[in-house]
Parts: sequence; structure tokens; C-alpha cells
Amino acid sequence: MEYYSTKNSKLRVSLKEAVLSGLAPDGGLFMPIEIPRLEFEILKNLPNMSFREIAFEMARLFLKDDVPERALGEIVQDAFDFEAPLHLLSDDLFVLELFHGPTLAFKDFGARFMARLMAYLQRNEDNEIFILVATSGDTGSAVASGFFKVPGFRVILLYPSGMVSEIQEKQLTTIGENVTALEVQGSFDDCQRLVKQAFTDQDLRRKLSMSSANSINIARLIPQSFYYASAWAQLPDHDAPLIVSVPSGNLGNLTAGVLAQRVGIPIDHFVSAMNINDVFWEYLQTGRFSPRLVIPTLSNAMDVGNPSNFFRLLELFGHDYRAMRQAISGMSFSDEETRQAITEIHEKFGYLMDPHGAVGYLALMRAVEKKHWQSAQKITLETAHPSKFKTVVEECTGQKVAVPERLQKALERDKQAVRISAEFEDFKEWLMKKG
Ligand SMILES: *Cc1c(COP(=O)(O)O)cnc(C)c1O
Repeated sequence: MEYYSTKNSKLRVSLKEAVLSGLAPDGGLFMPIEIPRLEFEILKNLPNMSFREIAFEMARLFLKDDVPERALGEIVQDAFDFEAPLHLLSDDLFVLELFHGPTLAFKDFGARFMARLMAYLQRNEDNEIFILVATSGDTGSAVASGFFKVPGFRVILLYPSGMVSEIQEKQLTTIGENVTALEVQGSFDDCQRLVKQAFTDQDLRRKLSMSSANSINIARLIPQSFYYASAWAQLPDHDAPLIVSVPSGNLGNLTAGVLAQRVGIPIDHFVSAMNINDVFWEYLQTGRFSPRLVIPTLSNAMDVGNPSNFFRLLELFGHDYRAMRQAISGMSFSDEETRQAITEIHEKFGYLMDPHGAVGYLALMRAVEKKHWQSAQKITLETAHPSKFKTVVEECTGQKVAVPERLQKALERDKQAVRISAEFEDFKEWLMKKG
């Protein structure tokens, strides 16, 4: 299948080009030229399948022209060595737990699949690819962990010294093997500048193959649709209406949900849950999209002022504002409300939820009340493990949050990072020596 740019539907490229370049040359995002449909027979059978089997059926829809079934099966098998269980809170209210991957956040689904798909698309090339990632925290560890030990790739993570949490720093600097962390004496913006400059530097381009594997890569979006299919499959009732609430930042997760719906997964309505960085909420209210500067919040992975996947959503809704409004409700909440929700979820259901998931829960509850959807089945997505936000969860619930073994292990390992200045020449010199 071909992929087009959201800035120019005539600009079309192959899967390989879309995946290896990430962003279209005109700055647009890649979209599949058509949305395939899941056969009814397969849909009916999803409830009898494992997560990997469902992922394979969904992946095949998009990728069957480009990746032979056997290779696709291996990619899915290897990428998804963890589950996405649907946890019952009460009656018809569920949490889809997306934190069982290696870095304890839903980004593992996209990152692990993307890394393996890239490796497949590169299988006949003998050049090693350098993945350069500027990170302020979680994305970097998911991408790095996704490429961990994937042959043909080296990951260089750049993070701002002293600006990421202790847990995040451990996750970034203890991976090892083909992953190197650079501790930059500067800000996150400096890290981004260094990466951008590297991509345009002639000497580096001649010497190294570089890729960014950034969050808007279509190879990260497609696999995020898989867990919506799996969530539906795990429901007790496959006929009752279904509402899904998605904690939203860059809107990738929500876009993947809409993609799953278009493929044929019976989801009736989406709730896009935001913190006060609610540019998309404003769009849903007014029809105007006005990017803003970010305000830091407790649910920091949702602190996005110019959500790039908005343009993909526009494509999926044919630029029809009314259609989008009908399909998606937007809600936004303060940190204070988020804290209260963490407390409430624990009191009502004995469940520990992280701040991102708590925003999702709040939005779901408010939408249900507003639209009188009490009788629908309701799913809220939990995008991170509560232990990643241990302090606030413990404050709000009075409960100790257990740290999963894979995070505990990272915390016990020694930090391994190369300190560099924020000067491009230092970064360049270091990279040239690696090539
Ligand atoms: C990235 C992230 C989000 C936001 O997802 P988008 O796809 O950017 O909308 C929400 N929660 C967590 C924990 C995240 O890491």
C-alpha cells in the first residue's frame, strides 16, 4: 500500500520510504491511501484469539502487500511479548492496561513494532542505521528499548542533564548494548537542536545513515490500533454500545483508535481526555485550532501545545468538523481534579491509577453523565504504570505503590551516560568517531 502526505495527497511513497523517513519531505504526516476493512468472519472470531493473533490480523490488513505473512508473524511475535489486559472496575466499566511493556507505558506497543518493521525493511542493506532521539523522558526509553538488540540499528539518546526525573534517567541510561545515552549540558530544546542539525550536516550525512524514528512515524501509529481491537474482543458483551476514553497529548493514541474503528472495530464513541493543555478540546468546541505554549502538569506526557496527529484526524474525518465533533467528545481537567480522581478511583474500586489514566477516567465519567450513556460499556485507557508516578499516587491514595521487577532492575543498575556539551561541534565529533 502507498502512503500520502497530509500536506499533499498527491505526494505518495512506499511503506519503506514512509517508515524510514518518518516525516514527509513537505513536513506532512504519512497516511495510508485507503483504510482497509476487517472481514466480518475475522471480526467475529477476534474474541477467540490471543493478543498476538489479533495484532497479526490487524497488521496484515495494512501491511500484506509489503511484508510477507511469515515475516509479519515474526515481527508481531517478537514485538508483543506482553499483554494488554482489560481490567474490570465495576459492572460495565473497564480499564485497558497498556503498561505491561518493558518501559511501563503504552508507547512500547508502537516502538517495538516500529523497530522490528524497520529492521525488516532494511534487511538487504548492510549499512548500520543510527537512530537519533532527543527526549525529555518517556519517548526516548520506549524507542531505545524498542530497538534494543535489533540488528542493524544503534540508538543515540540525547537528554537534558538534570531535567528528567530520577526514574526516567535510570530508564534512559541503563539499557546498554546498542543504545547509548548522551547527557547533554543543556535543555531539551538544545537536544532537539543537536539532532536537527545532525540530520542536515553534510559530513555526518556522508558518513552515517541516520533516522529519527519519531513519534509521528506511521509504523508507530498502526500497531496502536491493535489494542483497541483486543479491548473489544475482551469485552463480555460484543453487541452493547462501546465508549472509549483516551488520555491525549500528541493525539497519536486517539488517531489509532479512530483507525481501529474505521477498520471495523465496533467502537461507538471516543472521549479525548486532556489536561489543561487542551488545544484539541478548544478545537472541538469552536472549530479553531490554535497551538499554544505548553504548561507543565502532573500528566506530563500529555503536555503538548501543538498536537501533530491532529492533521491525521482531519484526514480521517475528511476535514469535516461536525463529523469529528460527533465522533469525539473532548474534556479537560486541572491537576487538582486529577489528584482527586486518583483518590476516588482508589476509594471506589481499590485500583491504583497514574495521573494520565486518571484524566482519562474523569473525562469518561463526565462524558457519560453529559450524554446519558450510563448503559453503554465503557473503557478507559491506562497509559502508564502508577509506579512511574509513585510519589503523587502514594500521596493521593495513602497506599504504597509496588515497583514492577523490570523497573526495579533498571533502578538498581548503574547509570551509564556520556556527558557532552550543548555545542554541535562536540556532538558531531563524538558521532563521527562512532561511524
Ligand atoms: C505519550 C503519552 C500519552 C499521550 O499519548 P498521545 O498519543 O501523544 O496522545 C499519554 N499518556 C502517557 C503515559 C504517555 O506516555
